[in-house]
Amino acid sequence: MRTPLVAANWKMHKTRAEAAAFVEAALPRLAVVEGVEVVLCPPYTALESVGRLLQGTAVRLGAQNLHWERQGAFTGEVSPTMLAEVGCAYVIVGHSERRRLFGETDDRVRRKVRAAFDAGLVPILCVGETLEERQAGLTDSRVTDQLAEATADLSAEDVARLVVAYEPVWAIGTGHAATGEEANRVSGLIRAWLRGRFGSAADTTRVQYGGSVTTRNAAEFLQQPEVDGALVGGASLDAEEFVGIVQLAARPGGTGGAPG
Ligand code: PEP
Repeated sequence: MRTPLVAANWKMHKTRAEAAAFVEAALPRLAVVEGVEVVLCPPYTALESVGRLLQGTAVRLGAQNLHWERQGAFTGEVSPTMLAEVGCAYVIVGHSERRRLFGETDDRVRRKVRAAFDAGLVPILCVGETLEERQAGLTDSRVTDQLAEATADLSAEDVARLVVAYEPVWAIGTGHAATGEEANRVSGLIRAWLRGRFGSAADTTRVQYGGSVTTRNAAEFLQQPEVDGALVGGASLDAEEFVGIVQLAARPGGTGGAPG
C-alpha cells in the first residue's frame, strides 16, 4: 500500500516567526496522525529554522525549487546540496508558477529532477494542463509530454521514489478544483504512463492531486484509489486547515513516515 503524502507549499508566504508559530500550532496534532506522510515546504529563508523545529518528528522538510548545479556562478540560486545540508528530504520541481512566471522549461525541469535525486532529495514533480489546453482536448498529451521530458534521465529505482503532483493549472489558487473523478483519471493516466516506461517501479510512485484543495473538498480527492495525497497551497497557510486535510488523508494500515 502506498502511504499518502500531503505537502504544504507555502510559496512566498511566512516569515521565520510566522513559520515557527505554524509549526508550534500544528506539530502536536500532526504527530498523532498515522498512515500519512507530511511535508512542509517553507520559503528558503525559513528552511533551516523550520527544519530545526521538525527534528525528531516524522514531519519532513521540503524546498519549493532548486538549481541543477551543485555550485557555481548562478546569482540568486540555491543548489540541491545546500538544500540537503539544511535537512530537506523533498523539493517541489516544475510548479506551474515557476513554469509560467519564471520561464521554467521542460528541459530545466528534467535537469532539476535528476539533480534532486543525485543530492538525495525526492522531487515532487508538478505536471498539469492549462485551461486552454484542457479546452482543446490536450490534457492527456500535455501531462504525458511533461512526464516524458521530466523523467528522461531517471532509472526505475528513482521512479519508485518519485512523487508526481497532478496540478491542473486552472485549479491552482482559483477555488475551482478538479472533480475527484477527473483527478483520479489523470492520476491513473500518469501511473499507466510511468508503468509503460519504467515497469512495476510505478506501483510505488505516489501521485498527488493539487489545486484548490481545502478541508471542504479534500475527502473527494483523497478517497480516490489513484490519488496518493495532496499538494496544498493556500489552505496550507492555516495550521487548523492544513491539519484537517492531513487527518482526511490518513489511511489506516498505511505506514506513515518517509519512504526508505
Ligand atoms: C499549489 O500551489 O501547488 C497549489 C495547489 O495551490 P492552491 O492549493 O492554493 O490551489
